[in-house]
Amino acid sequence: MRVLVTGGAGYIGSANVDALIAAGHDAAVFDSLNQGHRSAVNEAARFYEGDLADASAIEAAVSEFRPDSIMHFASHTLVGESMEKPFMYLGENTTNAINLLEAALSQGVERFILSSTANLFDKTEKIPIAPDERIVPGSPYGESKYFIERLLHWAHVTKGLRYAALRYFNAAGCTPVRGEDHDPETHLIPLLLQVALGQRENIKIFGDDFNTPDGSCVRDYIHIEDLAQAHILALEALHEREVLHYNLGNGNGSSVKEVVESVREITGHPVPAEVTPRRPGDPDVLIADSSKIREELGWEPRYPDLKSIIQSAWDWHNKHPDGYED
Ligand code: UDP
Repeated sequence: MRVLVTGGAGYIGSANVDALIAAGHDAAVFDSLNQGHRSAVNEAARFYEGDLADASAIEAAVSEFRPDSIMHFASHTLVGESMEKPFMYLGENTTNAINLLEAALSQGVERFILSSTANLFDKTEKIPIAPDERIVPGSPYGESKYFIERLLHWAHVTKGLRYAALRYFNAAGCTPVRGEDHDPETHLIPLLLQVALGQRENIKIFGDDFNTPDGSCVRDYIHIEDLAQAHILALEALHEREVLHYNLGNGNGSSVKEVVESVREITGHPVPAEVTPRRPGDPDVLIADSSKIREELGWEPRYPDLKSIIQSAWDWHNKHPDGYED
């Protein structure tokens, strides 16, 4: 297949491009490089530098590359930031997706895979969380992804676009060649590894008054290589199926305090931690029920436990203490 990957220079997108190419697909990347890194893009992928806010730029890339499928990763992705800048998230994530969809539909793209989120599920009835759980976004970020899922619904109904919405729980880990390098970094595991590398003094645990066994937030960490495999399975399944919604996680919850403890064990560094007030927008517990994608597509995570995920991240960060060079 010919797949255009928006955000393919970013953390999750770049690992997906590698997996697509390894699976024999043609891939091109469309990325503004606001967050992404040019050197994270697989050399076998064509590269278009552009911003989805520029409708003519994405239209030109789609009409030149002529993909049959699109994977859409490019977006604002931070829960905490979205609580401060709600309309940037609700506005830009949505209008950028509309620009992408307009280009896709006008050029005859058949399949679309959306990088969606567990932040659709605040105040859930049941844990672990199945894809048919009631949707109550936890933040403007989660709501913006829900808006995009609705855009896809209408692109399907009115134009026949086939799509998969993949709701990731906490993407983590690194491949031997792709890692996590955000500026500024806000994610728990890379921040902890920065402490272990001596680049930061301590880690802040955002709240220990959640409704969880040790009071800190519980999350389900899932390796980016396992996410990439899910994307490829979904892409292939869209030959037969028209609409897919899957939740992607290992099904294990780890609290922030447990993650801190695992990083201490793996790195051998004491990693000082201090409890601070909650970060707005964080639900108590997010654990995925991924049985639907396991049963329907045979997805099987290769990194089923937190320790192997953190170890893979530690290996990359040790090798690249300053991240990517660009
Ligand atoms: N977290 C924390 N301290 C930090 C960064 C994150 O306690 O410096 C917590 C955060 O509140 C959440 C979990 O770690 O419960 C995972 O957060 P992250 O930002 O890595 O991913 P998100 O859940 O926002 O996608």
